[in-house]
This record gives sequence, structure tokens and C-alpha cells, in this order.
Amino acid sequence: MLDNFEKLWKDALFEIEPNVSKANFSTWFKDTYISKYEDGVVTINVPNDFVKEWLSTKYYKFVISSLRNLNPSIRHADYLIVSKPPQINQPEKKQYFKQQGNNEEQLGFQELNTDTEANLNPRYTFDSFVVASFNEVAHSAAIAVSKSIGNLYNPLFIYGGVGLGKTHLLQAIGNETKKNNPATKVQYLTSEKFANDYVLSIQNKNIHLFKEKYRKYNLLIVDDIQFFSDKLKIQEEFFHIFNALYDGNNQIIFSSDKPPQYIVGLEDRLKSRFEGGMMVDISQPSLEERMAILRVKMQQRGYLISDEIIDFIAKNIKENIRELEGALNSVIGQSKIRGRILNLIDVEEILKRKIKPIRVITADSVIKIIANYYNIEEKKINEKTRRQEIVKPRQIAMYLLRNDLNTSYPYIGRRLGQKDHTTAIHAYKKITCDIKNDKKLEQEINNIREIISKN
Ligand code: ADP
Ligand code: MG
Repeated sequence: MLDNFEKLWKDALFEIEPNVSKANFSTWFKDTYISKYEDGVVTINVPNDFVKEWLSTKYYKFVISSLRNLNPSIRHADYLIVSKPPQINQPEKKQYFKQQGNNEEQLGFQELNTDTEANLNPRYTFDSFVVASFNEVAHSAAIAVSKSIGNLYNPLFIYGGVGLGKTHLLQAIGNETKKNNPATKVQYLTSEKFANDYVLSIQNKNIHLFKEKYRKYNLLIVDDIQFFSDKLKIQEEFFHIFNALYDGNNQIIFSSDKPPQYIVGLEDRLKSRFEGGMMVDISQPSLEERMAILRVKMQQRGYLISDEIIDFIAKNIKENIRELEGALNSVIGQSKIRGRILNLIDVEEILKRKIKPIRVITADSVIKIIANYYNIEEKKINEKTRRQEIVKPRQIAMYLLRNDLNTSYPYIGRRLGQKDHTTAIHAYKKITCDIKNDKKLEQEINNIREIISKN
């Protein structure tokens, strides 16, 4: 017999919670409850499609095993989407913000405790990192590496556009490693800092100290290695450090805004070292994922914001998570300054400055960006050749001109090497089909889109 649904779910959540990060727990289990039990099937009500999808795939095992532990007659869990009651006629819910505590002060205090030796900021942990499909692979690789540094994926290479969580993940690996094993010698730095250190050591004539210092780490994390581009002397020095660390089974982790093969001016031997480990990407979050991130961030700051406002911010701030945080901070800051709860009109006005006006993007600028991205001369893209390094960028250009700019096939054909419109149609169909099976290609195209949107 099973009649106290509330208690059952509470007990189940109690078991699930320690297995899931805090951020994920509140994202996926908030506003869920059991509404029915019949013939071994429990029905769990969830607030939206997105939560349903995640609970029924990623967390199904956790949910069902914790329920079964509590009641062995349960065989299966079903999910039912129940949207929340409309907020209009509920005065107490009409509030857009409600301060819930002083989490912010706590964060501020933590910031002061940055581990200056390892250069790690305690704010960046796995616990405060929201996982969804756009960053799931990178997140699980990061977790795996932090559990077994030097043994599993070495090096680990995380790439993706700006503001999407690369630094956060890199730092989280460092923090987790330090927490589990404080004796580990961890160092986080950007490639620019590495370059500056090197130049300084030459000036001070103590390059031997520089070499020694970097060879002693068990975990070396180098962020944004795209800045190594064209700095050949530094790359050479880094190559030797890399080999020394690697041969000693020490872990090396990198991030970059693009995969190694597209970093212009990066030596081949470094590229092949980077590619020899595990490469994972972070892509763009979808609308639902942006909303979920906003919800978590809002809770972390101890504020409540209406769904309407969350929806508005997520629909308008699409670039990346840093921008989302920025928008949320402006909204919270303004609410404090004005000393009142903000409504949608206030928020629209505050964010107006942050939302980019629609610009006209020309075919010429798209082609230029693509040529640049694949490191080929712009006029080469029109060349009559079957060489893959030319054909691929050209087909991507044709695809983007058609798909994103709605340019006519005859124009695309003419603009890209006096080709027939059927060539443009073929390229469009080919890329459309290829991205379905090739995640890397999809990511490249999204990277290009991001560059285009920022130009
Ligand atoms: P990147 O290094 O890729 O440019 P960052 O790691 O600096 O991006 O992330 C930008 C901001 O967004 C940081 O404040 C970070 O904490 C936050 N952020 C990024 N991804 C997530 C995530 N999945 N969950 C929570 N916060 C995130
Ligand atoms: Mg970064």
C-alpha cells in the first residue's frame, strides 16, 4: 500500500541529492512531486518538457532505484508535465524579486580566499556548474580527469566560444583535485601569463628557474592557448615542458576558443600533442538551457525572479553565459538601487542597452570570416580545385549564405568561383546532411556563426 506520496518523494529526494551537484539538483528536481501510483507505476509531475526529458533519461536510474529502495513494488516511473498555475491573480506571487538571504556576501568572502599559489578561485566548482546537453561531454571528461589525474585523458583539451564555461570547468578540476588531495601541485594560468613569465625570465637571465618551476607540477592547467599563436619561441619552450610533464604522468589541461587544427600559427608538433589526448567541446546553450542557468544563478544570489522575466532575459541574451550573468546582475543591482521589485517593463528598459540591434550581415563579410577561420587566403576560396582544405570552407560558406542569410543559389554560385547554381544547392544539401552526423562540424559552424554575430 502506498498512500503518502509526499513522504515517499521527500525520502527519495533525500537519497538522490548527494549523488547530484547542488546546481543540478535544484534545476531538475525543483517543483516536482508524485501525483499517482498505480500497478507499480509512479507518476511524477514536472513543470516542463525540459525537466521531463532530463529526468526520464539522465536521472532515470537514480530516481527509480531510490524509489525501489523505499518501496520494492515500484517498477517504473512516468513523468507528467504540469505547468505552474498562472501568476496573474495570485498577489503573493506577483512579486518579481524577493530577497532570501545573504548568499552574495558569502560569495564575496570566498573570493578573498583565492588560492594564490595555485591561482584557483574557489567560486569555480563542479557544484556551481550547471550541466545540460551543450556542456555535458566536457563536464563528464572534467569530472573523470579530476578523479584520476595523469592517468585517464592526458592531455584534456576543452574548446568552445567565449563565456561558455571553459575557465569555470578548468578551475573546477583544479579545486576538486586540491580538495581531494591537498599535496598535489596544481597550477592554473593563462597562456599569456606563461608567455609573460618566459619573457621576464629571459630579461632577468634566470630561464633555468622558469624551466624548473613548470616541470614540477602534477597538474598544469593552461587556459586560452589560442594566444600561443605565432609565438614560436614560447611554443618551443612549452613543448619541452609538456613532454617532461607528460612523461612523468602529470596531468595537463588546456582550453582554447577553437580546436587545435584551426589555431593559426600553432606548430604542428604541438597540435599533434594536443590532439593526442581527449578533445571535448562546449557548444551554445539552447533557450531552455539558458532559462535553467538563470534560475540556478538567481537562487545562488538569493533572489526570486518571475518566469516572465527569466523568459525575457533568456530570449534576448543569447551570446553566452557571461552575458546572461551580466544581465541578471544588472537587473538585481537595479532592483536594489530602486529599492523595489521590478516588473517586465523595468527589465526591458534595463536590458535595452545590452541587447544588440539587428545588423546587416553581408556575403562578403561571411566569406572573409570563413576564410580567416580556416586559415586560407580569401581569394583561394574561389579557386577551381578539389583540395579538401579549400572545398570544405567553400561549402560551408555556401551553406551559411543560404541557410542564415537566405541568399539565392545563383548568386551564391557566382560569388564563390563562378559556379553553377546546382553546385550551391549540392553544397547546401551536403553540409545540412553532414552536420547531422558530425558534431565537430556542427560546432565549427556554430563557432563561425558566433564570430559573424560579433563582427
Ligand atoms: P569561458 O572561459 O568559456 O570564456 P567562463 O568559464 O569564464 O567562460 O564562464 C563565464 C561565466 O559564466 C562565469 O562566471 C562562469 O561561472 C559562468 N558559467 C559558465 N558556464 C556555467 C555553467 N554551466 N554553470 C554555471 N555557471 C556557468
Ligand atoms: Mg575563459
